[in-house]
Amino acid sequence: MKPLAPGDTIGILGGGQLGRMLSIAAAQLGFDVAIFTDEPDSPAARVSARTTIGNYLDHAALADFARRVDVVTTEFENVPAETAQALIDAGARVAPNPHALAVAQDRFDEKSYFASAGIATPPFRAIASQADLDAAIAEIGAPAILKTRRLGYDGRGQIRIKTEADANGAYEKLGAPGILEGFCAFEREVSIIAARGWDGAIAFYDLNENEHAGGILSRTTLPARVSAEVESHAQDAARRVLEAFDYVGVLTIEFFVMADGSLIANEMAPRVHNSGHWTIEGALTSQFGQHIRAVAGWPLGPTTRVAAIEMLNLIGDEANDWPALAADPDARVHLYGKRSARSGRKMGHVTKLR
Ligand code: AMP
Repeated sequence: MKPLAPGDTIGILGGGQLGRMLSIAAAQLGFDVAIFTDEPDSPAARVSARTTIGNYLDHAALADFARRVDVVTTEFENVPAETAQALIDAGARVAPNPHALAVAQDRFDEKSYFASAGIATPPFRAIASQADLDAAIAEIGAPAILKTRRLGYDGRGQIRIKTEADANGAYEKLGAPGILEGFCAFEREVSIIAARGWDGAIAFYDLNENEHAGGILSRTTLPARVSAEVESHAQDAARRVLEAFDYVGVLTIEFFVMADGSLIANEMAPRVHNSGHWTIEGALTSQFGQHIRAVAGWPLGPTTRVAAIEMLNLIGDEANDWPALAADPDARVHLYGKRSARSGRKMGHVTKLR
């Protein structure tokens, strides 16, 4: 595609912190950003040229938005398929494409997709009833994890099944169609952030090593403690997914690393990712600048990492420590401008380079 020129407008669906950091990166390259969100006073809106506050299913508002932007991208994966289609019908270019968004929204479709691309996953079964769950537990065994197929994130919508007895009544408790996954006793968790341009060029960042607390990412460190071979397996998997989707933009895949060094794919995010926030200071091109470059038809930037990295999320009240963080010369502080610090909410992050 013909590259967008400075002064052109990039539309972003969603108003959260990822949209905010994408918007800042887009501004750095001379683009204007228009946000479409259903949230008043969103973190992204406050740093962007324009904002439409509307319902994601309001076709008239979407058509108006489509006419006023040069490309549309997204900062969250749960964009309704209808929203993406309405934008395309109104003449917008949408990247990543709606097919990738749709697959990433459904944990069963996502794992089926990985399996069809030859990427290892935990054993999994679709669960639409207690009888399905009982049958799946009989096959997969315990421990296992029951997750909602859709709309789960940061460990929400998950029930741990430690013993077979825990499965009793678990489907009703889940309250929605689910997926049962065998529990992976992993050695560590890693993620890969990759990007693909309209011309098919692909770039990878170094592998992130991730620690979660309560299902939420708490810490990312680099270099990840894995061999070069494991890293190249992660790159192969990401390349296969990017090419199979004819994907444009940044994509993230999270993996479990098993004791024998094998990788098991947990999930993918068709977007920039929390585990890549370190790239703002720690790589020659940030994941946000890279995503903007990709969707704008610009050449991808170099992904070289410039230091060893520790990235810490500021969850809920942790962001109240900002005076101490601001006084720490080693801490690169990012705060997302959220108005209230509900528990479990991502309020900011800190990156330390060594
Ligand atoms: P998810 O929302 O699916 O990314 O799950 C959140 C976290 O729960 C993961 O990062 C893992 O730490 C853990 N987890 C999820 N699925 C599994 C699994 N099949 N086996 C072991 N741990 C898991």
